[in-house]
Amino acid sequence: MNILVINCGSSSLKYQLINMTNEEVLAQGIVERIGIDGSILTQKVEGRDKYIIETPMESHKIAVKLVLDALVDNKNGVINSMDEIAAVGHRIVHGGERYAKSVLVDDEVVKYIEECIKLAPLHNPAHIIGINACKELMPNTKMAVVFDTAFHQTMPEHAYLYALPYELYKEHNIRKYGFHGTSHKYVSAKVAEVMGKDIKDLKIVTCHLGNGASITAVKDGISVETSMGFTPLEGVAMGTRSGNIDPAIVTYLMKEANYSLDEVNEILNKKSGVLGISGVSSDFRDIEAAASNGNHRAQLALDIFHYRVKQHVASYAASMGGVDVVVFTAGVGENSPETREEVCKGLEFMGINIDPAKNKVRGKLTEISSDSSKVKIYIVPTNEELMIAKDTLALISK
Ligand code: AMP
Repeated sequence: MNILVINCGSSSLKYQLINMTNEEVLAQGIVERIGIDGSILTQKVEGRDKYIIETPMESHKIAVKLVLDALVDNKNGVINSMDEIAAVGHRIVHGGERYAKSVLVDDEVVKYIEECIKLAPLHNPAHIIGINACKELMPNTKMAVVFDTAFHQTMPEHAYLYALPYELYKEHNIRKYGFHGTSHKYVSAKVAEVMGKDIKDLKIVTCHLGNGASITAVKDGISVETSMGFTPLEGVAMGTRSGNIDPAIVTYLMKEANYSLDEVNEILNKKSGVLGISGVSSDFRDIEAAASNGNHRAQLALDIFHYRVKQHVASYAASMGGVDVVVFTAGVGENSPETREEVCKGLEFMGINIDPAKNKVRGKLTEISSDSSKVKIYIVPTNEELMIAKDTLALISK
């Protein structure tokens, strides 16, 4: 049984077709520049050359149609007809407070995702366009939505509320939601599985360190604290996002330095983080290369990033009353031995001891703690698409 996983962005669409019998990825691809010049679809199938379609794509509907055509294409496709797609699973960034679990798509669900546009103005509109495009093109195929926020809906009130007037929560939904939930859920479940433990018996800190980065405390199998907040801007410094800052900096910049609201927004989301500090790049490979060539600001950017992640790991042990496992995942977490080593350095007092030799590995599920480490440390490659496909399959099988 095949599940199509779709992740619609404002001008892009990523997809994977997964055979759920053996969890094999039959095809994966990305459509870029939807609605602008130079639209392009690139599909990859294991053992074959890339299949590239360059043609104008004015809308997401056209993009979805091309994806379906590419999947059933005589020469480059992987299935014979669309009937071989049992269901579609959509990644949705914001599910507000209503959805703590994935659900099948119906009109009410779409209406609520629409209501959440005010909480995720860049993402949720694109998701709705993707859902509607699939509905038109595959009216008889079931669809599910999997929310980035859902896993964090278990956070206790004292963790998700900001110390603002309570009315702002009631009237404007101002609270911590948390993101990357699908990834945190996947890697925490996976690490429990490989350790041969019941997740309910573990206190896990999951570090999703990619271009966007978030840390989560998972206790008894549920999220009890996470670093991203009302939006994905809160938490550690990221590729281009500032992470935590004194909120007074915003009003200061606007009042004293004449920055407009849009400019401040742009600075915090696009010009800060390791890019803003280093002035080199938002890509950790470029920054690590520049730092090893003696670039002070590049090294400073890395130091700030490592320091902030370390602080979160330690404070989440406090949130849970201890920690049994630390997990590294996503682009940087899976691939940068330096990041993992620097994050763990100084946490020996908590029983966190990394093994430098075991840590010399990239992108592989591995234990990297030393034999004497009280806390286990793992690299667990994330797989949000598989998680979305599994949730979708579970929902259509009910
Ligand atoms: P993601 O958002 O999870 O796709 O992660 C993207 C980030 O992972 C980028 O900043 C990449 O530079 C980083 N990354 C990928 N491979 C490596 C590597 N070998 N060493 C350090 N960073 C890496």
